[in-house]
Amino acid sequence: MYQYPKILPETPAPNPNNPTDEQRHDMLRTSLNKAGRNDDYTNIIGLLSPSQDITRYANPGEFKGRKVGIIGAGLAGMSAAFELRKLGYDITIFDPVADRIGGRVYTYYFDKEKRLYGEFGATRIPISHETTWHYINLFKLNTIPYINADPNTFTYVRNIRVRNDLEGQNIFHSIYPLFNLPSKEANTPWPELYYKVSRYYLSNLTPEIRKQFLMILPRYDVRFENIINMSIRQALNLYGLSSAAINLITSVMPITGSTIDNSFEGTLNDDYTMDYFNLYRIDGGMANLPLAFYSSLSSPNPPEYPGIPQSALGRITWKRGHAVYGLYKSGTDGKVVVKHRAFPSYTHYEDSFETFDYVICAITMSQLRLVDIQPQFSEGKMEAIKNVVNLDAQKTLFLCKERFWEKQGIFGGSSYTDGISQIISYPQDHTPNMQNSANSFSEPGVLTASYNVGQDAIRLGHAHVSSRYRFVREDVERVHGLPEKYLESIVLDHKTVDWFQEYYAKGAFRALLPGLKTELLYPSSVPEFNNRVFFAGEQVSTKNAWIQGALQTGMSAANDVACYSIIRKHQK
Ligand SMILES: Cc1cc2nc3c(=O)[nH]c(=O)nc-3n(C[C@H](O)[C@H](O)[C@H](O)COP(=O)(O)OP(=O)(O)OC[C@H]3O[C@@H](n4cnc5c(N)ncnc54)[C@H](O)[C@@H]3O)c2cc1C
Repeated sequence: MYQYPKILPETPAPNPNNPTDEQRHDMLRTSLNKAGRNDDYTNIIGLLSPSQDITRYANPGEFKGRKVGIIGAGLAGMSAAFELRKLGYDITIFDPVADRIGGRVYTYYFDKEKRLYGEFGATRIPISHETTWHYINLFKLNTIPYINADPNTFTYVRNIRVRNDLEGQNIFHSIYPLFNLPSKEANTPWPELYYKVSRYYLSNLTPEIRKQFLMILPRYDVRFENIINMSIRQALNLYGLSSAAINLITSVMPITGSTIDNSFEGTLNDDYTMDYFNLYRIDGGMANLPLAFYSSLSSPNPPEYPGIPQSALGRITWKRGHAVYGLYKSGTDGKVVVKHRAFPSYTHYEDSFETFDYVICAITMSQLRLVDIQPQFSEGKMEAIKNVVNLDAQKTLFLCKERFWEKQGIFGGSSYTDGISQIISYPQDHTPNMQNSANSFSEPGVLTASYNVGQDAIRLGHAHVSSRYRFVREDVERVHGLPEKYLESIVLDHKTVDWFQEYYAKGAFRALLPGLKTELLYPSSVPEFNNRVFFAGEQVSTKNAWIQGALQTGMSAANDVACYSIIRKHQK
């Protein structure tokens, strides 16, 4: 007989290499303790945990024959499908991209053996992202600690290169003098300059108010709205930092520099949940997570549903190569008609229509802007679809025939430059104990030669491929102090993804300008068409720009469908 699972989905046992829940939670507690925010621990874990298991709402197989259309096979769409399948729904998943699965999780493999790869999208997983860890453990994926900082990497600012020693002394001694800092700031060691500001604003909110970082509400506490309404630049200014100090911060922290006029809430949100302390990556590439979903959803008898008979599981129909272009509320029964388009060739397309009991939109607001919606969604939603801003990000990978960076002692982490390339990240497949191996550098490796965000991503992303390669190559040579054109004989291949130009993404992640979280996030997430259309994805989550946001909203959208299915069943 079927047994109800616990209220929260059972946490699967992690693979031996993965941190246990207890270990992850200890790491979070330690970081919070250092930041003087012990009180946030329970709220963070609670609010980032997976939502209730869908089988709390209905019995497995209860909704056999009910049809759900899922728009988008990113992690949000696939997690929704994974959960809905437990209740027996007949699920159709649309995605125009037919040759790859995973949306903005995109591992690029240069070789058939899949050893030489880089990440165009997501790269690392913070320990506090409970929902992400839930699925990583469920699919038994292996993770490896992500080396975020390596003291041998470089910072290159105003033509000066220093090593990133962990206390920031090199920046303090060699880069500070290049900025006209008032004496108090000139004596504040790096990276205290920025983190003091972050700590100050966080400590001015009570734990109850800080919780609101992880909540979608129509209105927030007025003290929290102050944070939402401020740009990062204004926050730094108001704290009393000089413009020289702000210039220094934007030079040595290029991503903060590129988002300086976005809402301060975004940056503080990451600091609140300690996103940059204790990170992990997925062994073999981040794409293994979407691939695990895909393989489970494509299998008639997947091992991930213990206790649920195979006969209860819902059917999955893949419509890969199909883009959704229309959503219509049916006049007769209120169901949802989806118009989808297949492109058998560049010059030819074919439209089809299908009716669903429920639809989950797991695509970006920018993509929804191209969808014909009749009748129109609520005013707030239409406004959000039009005005949610997507930030651009660009990554260029270099396949190098040898690892010149290892000769400089670098085995992970990133270098930073105030040049257009912004961030250079190193592969992490040569573990530190290989440093002793005399010739590990002579093996090929994949360098993330540039990861930049914002205007620089647009500038570089739109450059002609040969100029872009030259800009990035020259930056990498400068940052590492290599002779000009040194890399010409080292780089065997290169590839770029500019997320603005990826037609089915139209940007890397949601960016909210000051004030817009209150105006746009809540209406983005409310259901439409009389609770027949639900929304999921990074864009409608509190954890935008993270996998966590996609998975958690996918799960909740599935639960919403289950709840309204029950309500309708009882209304009959
Ligand atoms: C450069 C970069 C770095 C990142 N780094 C990290 C990181 O280190 N850690 C982390 O946790 N997260 C990171 N992220 C964020 C993470 O990748 C995303 O939050 C997450 O993958 C978003 O998933 P999603 O399902 O919401 O959207 P998507 O992955 O964008 O999925 C949407 C899907 O919808 C499809 N689609 C689009 N239009 C249509 C249509 N009309 N009809 C049907 N289907 C359609 C698309 O093809 C796509 O497959 C990063 C993202 C980027 C871009």
